[in-house]
Amino acid sequence: MIAPGSTIGILGGGQLGRMLAMAAASMGYRVHIFAPETELPAGDVSAAVTRAAYTDHAALEAFSAAVDVVTVEFENVDAESLEFLESRVPTRPGARALRIAQDRLAEKDFFTGLGGRAAPYRSVSSRAELETAVREIGTPGILKTRRFGYDGKGQVRINADTSLDTAWADIGENPSVYEGFVRFDAEFSILLARAEDGSSVVYPAPRNTHESGILALSEVPAPAALAAHVEDAAAMARKVADALDYVGLLTLEFFGCADGPVFNEMAPRVHNSGHWTIEGAHTSQFENHIRAICGLPLGETGLSARAVRMKNLIGEDANDWAAILADPRAHLHLYGKSEVKPGRKMGHVTWLE
Ligand code: AMP
Repeated sequence: MIAPGSTIGILGGGQLGRMLAMAAASMGYRVHIFAPETELPAGDVSAAVTRAAYTDHAALEAFSAAVDVVTVEFENVDAESLEFLESRVPTRPGARALRIAQDRLAEKDFFTGLGGRAAPYRSVSSRAELETAVREIGTPGILKTRRFGYDGKGQVRINADTSLDTAWADIGENPSVYEGFVRFDAEFSILLARAEDGSSVVYPAPRNTHESGILALSEVPAPAALAAHVEDAAAMARKVADALDYVGLLTLEFFGCADGPVFNEMAPRVHNSGHWTIEGAHTSQFENHIRAICGLPLGETGLSARAVRMKNLIGEDANDWAAILADPRAHLHLYGKSEVKPGRKMGHVTWLE
């Protein structure tokens, strides 16, 4: 067990790290952030910061000596860097989970290999393979880069009249996955926390609404029509977590379709669709992640209200903070980012009913 008073190292310095650090501090831990950026929303609320590249072995070595456990708030950390840390200090989740989750092809292969269902997909590493994939799967579909895609970035929609030359150029000729377009009723996510002893807890699944590929709204409980899907999806999430011997909070995103859940992607970390848990669940996703990686008992995940709604503040939305606070029931969260940019996640608001 890593007892309160110990130091938790977090790779990544964004808002997820910020909320993890705040949960860790509430339980008496110190947090040390490791990230390359100059502006670090997580660094502002942490005891220590190392500003270095994720591949800087000297900096990683010093970091590993300064912390009692390492975790991530960002999945695109080099898996080799995580392996380097793993050999020096407990690292949760481990390099294997990251390696799979940072590659859309590997994650779909892994999920379907465990018996789960994803949209039809093909690996595309050349213009010729794109042509074959589109012929086999049909249109509409989405071409997604295997790596470094998030919030709808690194994606090209392909319709019957789309030029494949243009699509291949638009994706930067990067190794990709072509997947069939899923006609879903709703999107939802499964947030699961798994402890060292293999026990796990699952949160009530939020229904997630995206705008321009970015999460806009999470609502809990999800509509009754999703309930049947949620059970199957949660069972698959448990399978994934067990297969990875995962420790910490794991997120899987699904499309709720007429004939059951269809897997979209997974994140080996706390997730935007779980921000509502700060006020809306008995134990937040951030606290349960800290509990899991420190070997503490997991906390209850049930709702602390009848219903909970979380709205993201994207770009200019954050300038409305005064109007948001005029509602005395609004819980405002701002991430302390100095520059407002279109599409940038600046904060969120949660309402309990
Ligand atoms: P992703 O970055 O893969 O999570 O994609 C962002 C959003 O784009 C998803 O949450 C969906 O709203 C939409 N999307 C992604 N893939 C598909 C698909 N195969 N079919 C339909 N919509 C999709």
